[in-house]
Amino acid sequence: MTKRVVLIGHPVAHSLSGAMQQAAFDHLGIDATYELWDRAPMTLAEAIAELRGEDFLGANVTIPHKERVVPLVDKLAEEAHAIGALNTITKEGKKLVGHNTDVPGFKDALDRLVGRQKMPRHAVVLGAGGGARAVVHGLIREGFQRVVVFNRHLHRGESLVKHFSRSAAHMDLRAMPWHESIIESELAKTKVLVNATSIGLGSDETPIPAEILGPDLMVLDLIYANTRLLRDAAAAGCTTADGEMMLLHQGAASFTLWTGQPAPMDVMHAALTEARARGITSAEGEPVPSEPVPSEPVPSEPAGA
Ligand code: NAP
Repeated sequence: MTKRVVLIGHPVAHSLSGAMQQAAFDHLGIDATYELWDRAPMTLAEAIAELRGEDFLGANVTIPHKERVVPLVDKLAEEAHAIGALNTITKEGKKLVGHNTDVPGFKDALDRLVGRQKMPRHAVVLGAGGGARAVVHGLIREGFQRVVVFNRHLHRGESLVKHFSRSAAHMDLRAMPWHESIIESELAKTKVLVNATSIGLGSDETPIPAEILGPDLMVLDLIYANTRLLRDAAAAGCTTADGEMMLLHQGAASFTLWTGQPAPMDVMHAALTEARARGITSAEGEPVPSEPVPSEPVPSEPAGA
């Protein structure tokens, strides 16, 4: 029986995850398909229940369902529990288990950004959504001593900090209001800047002005593109990286969870590069900036309802 893995989001369209996972299944001769399921929040429970069927190996879950899917699974792996969001579902018989592979994905991206330098201890994180939660969890685990979260809506940043209050009790994790002067003053004290907002995803906007980027900064943008932030940072002399490594490594971790096999990283990387060259810009966790092209009929509800 051909096994099925699905990406559940709303909207989902030409997904880079689809290209990367299908290439991995095909390369290893695994008889499985990776499908895109556009499911509005109202039909999420039904979609999750369907995964209990024998033909499913599991799923990826993306925007806007990463948090609301948590009560719909039977068990959470440690990281999904700690973060309060999941992006991967595996099966134990008919039981559904939630995982969060954004964390190992982020760790690989951070390690690559820092390279042979000593791991810094201070970071500034822009954003407080699901991606930012995985980033903050990763920074806490990495031993960072001060992490400042800036978010457009301060209350969301504060909830994030509250969520991690226990695991971050030994360090300084705080949310601050999004004011350019405050961000500038924090950046002057930090080495690592992570953009976990979606600013720059569908337009050539940047979350912060180029003038406040110093040359010593290491800048990671979770968006899988050469965003304006990254171009400004490179021009200022910073070390930079986009979301490619995080996307690749979270996908590889999900693949191994579903199949029990090591992920063919080269094949997945090549599929990502090829899909990107064809103009596909939607990554795991990224809403599609241009017109969505769903793989199945979309229920006529407003996006994000
Ligand atoms: P999310 O939960 O929807 O959060 C979006 C974040 O962006 C929030 O902090 C939001 O602020 C902020 N934001 C959006 N538009 C804004 C604007 N115009 N001005 C200021 N802030 C704005 O999404 P997510 O899952 O965290 O994803 C965030 C980004 O990370 C996306 O670009 C996604 O593609 C990327 N990501 C990449 C990977 C990867 O593997 N490379 C993995 C996960 C996520 P408010 O709370 O104030 O609305």
